[in-house]
Amino acid sequence: MIIGGGFGGLTAARSLRTAPVSVTLVDRRNHHVFQPLLYQVATAALSPGDIAYPIRSILRKQKNTEVLLAEIAAIDLSRRELQFTGGSISYDYLIVGAGAAHSYFGHDDWEKSAPGLKTLEDALEIRRRFLLAFEEAEREPDPARRQKLLTFVLVGGGPTGAELAGAMAEISRTVLVGDFRVVDPRQARIILLEAGPRILPTFPEGLSAKASAALTRLGVEVRIGSPVTGIGPGFVDVGAERLEAGTILWSAGVAAAPVARSLGIPLDRAGRVPVEPDLSIPGHPEVFVIGDLAAFLHQTGKPLPGVAQVAIQQGRYAATAIARRVSGQPSAGPFHYRDPGNLAVLGRGAAIADLGRVRLSGFPAWLFWCFVHILYLIGFRNRFIVMFEWAWAYFRNERGARLITGN
Ligand SMILES: Cc1cc2nc3c(=O)[nH]c(=O)nc-3n(C[C@H](O)[C@H](O)[C@H](O)COP(=O)(O)OP(=O)(O)OC[C@H]3O[C@@H](n4cnc5c(N)ncnc54)[C@H](O)[C@@H]3O)c2cc1C
Repeated sequence: MIIGGGFGGLTAARSLRTAPVSVTLVDRRNHHVFQPLLYQVATAALSPGDIAYPIRSILRKQKNTEVLLAEIAAIDLSRRELQFTGGSISYDYLIVGAGAAHSYFGHDDWEKSAPGLKTLEDALEIRRRFLLAFEEAEREPDPARRQKLLTFVLVGGGPTGAELAGAMAEISRTVLVGDFRVVDPRQARIILLEAGPRILPTFPEGLSAKASAALTRLGVEVRIGSPVTGIGPGFVDVGAERLEAGTILWSAGVAAAPVARSLGIPLDRAGRVPVEPDLSIPGHPEVFVIGDLAAFLHQTGKPLPGVAQVAIQQGRYAATAIARRVSGQPSAGPFHYRDPGNLAVLGRGAAIADLGRVRLSGFPAWLFWCFVHILYLIGFRNRFIVMFEWAWAYFRNERGARLITGN
C-alpha cells in the first residue's frame, strides 16, 4: 500500500513496477499536482491542466498497480490496516507519502483571511482574489479604499512567497497595464513580509540578497524582520503597525499531514514522523514514511528540506528496500540524500540557483530553472507544449483566457 500520489508516493509506485508485488496507491485526489508550478497557475501563466495529471493515467500501463480514491483517516499499525470512510484495507508493506499542509502557528482563524498555496483549488482561489481585486478597485470611487484593494500582502519570504510576489508585481506592471480605465495596475502595492533577517533563508546570503534586489526592482516592498502578530479581514498587524490590504496570502509555515497522528508515535514539532536510517518507523520495519511527512535526521542532524527531490529519492529508496526484502536480498544500507541544488524564480527572466560550488543568478539561473522544471514534468500532457505556452505568456506578457476568473 502507498498513501499519497505526490512526488514521493508516485515515484515509489513507479519504482515497484517490475517487483513481484501487488501495489495499491491511495490518494484523496484523483490527480498528481506538480506543486513547484502552482504559483504559475495562481498568477495565470499556466492552466490547471498543465501541471496536474490523473494518477490513474500515469499508472495505467503498470499491470501490478491499482489506484484507489480515498482519504485515509487512520493507520492501524497493529492490525496492518488502513481505515477510510466506508472501509478498510490491509497491507504487508506500507509507504506513507501524505505530504504536508499549511500551518498557521496556532492561529487557524487566520486561514480564512490569508489562504495558502498547496492545491489546485488554492491556486485558482488565489488567482480569483488577485484578479477580482483589480476589478473591484476599478469601480471603487473612494481613493483610499481603492488603494487598499490594490494592496497585496504575502506573509512569509520563503520560495513560495518570493515567487508569488515577483509574479504578481510583474503582472500588475506589465500584463494588466492598459486593460483598465480608472485604476493604474502599476500602482498595486505588493508587500512581502518576512519575520527573519532575510528572505529565502535556505539559500546562501549572497543569493538571497540578489533575490531581494531583483524583487525590489520589480516593485515588491520586501520587509524583513517583520513578524506578523495578527491577521483579519482586510488587515495584517506587524507589531503596532496595521497594514490595510485587500488581498492577504499565507506562505509562512507548513505542518505534516494529519494522518501521521494516527500512527500513535511521537512526532516532531511540525507533526513529521521521525524515521530510522532506512526510512522505516521504530518497531515497524514494514512501514516507511517519505517526503514532506518524514523527519530524517541521520544525515545532517536536522530534518531534510521539504522539497520534491527529497520525496523522489526517498520514494525510490523505500520501493527498492521492499523489492529487495520480498526477493530475499540483503538491505542496501541507510538512505542518503544527494542534494542536486536549490532554485527560486523571481519574475520574468530572473532566478537564483544554488548548485553547491556553482551559484547562478539572473537570466542564466532562470534558463536553468526552465530546463529543470520541464525535465521533471513527468507524464504530463506534453511538457514541450507546457513549456511553449509558458514561455509565450512570459515573453509576450500575455495571459489570454487564463485571466478569466473562475477558470
Ligand atoms: C507552492 C509550492 C511550491 C513549491 N516549490 C518547490 C520547488 O520549486 N522545488 C521543490 O523541490 N519543491 C517545491 N515544493 C515542495 C514540494 O512540492 C514538496 O516537497 C513535495 O511535493 C513533497 O512530496 P510528497 O510526496 O512528500 O507530498 P505531496 O507531493 O504533497 O503529496 C502528498 C499526497 O498525499 C495525498 N494525501 C494526503 N493526505 C492523504 C490522506 N489522508 N489520504 C489519502 N491521500 C492523502 C495528497 O492528496 C497528495 O497527493 C513546493 C511546494 C509548494 C506547495
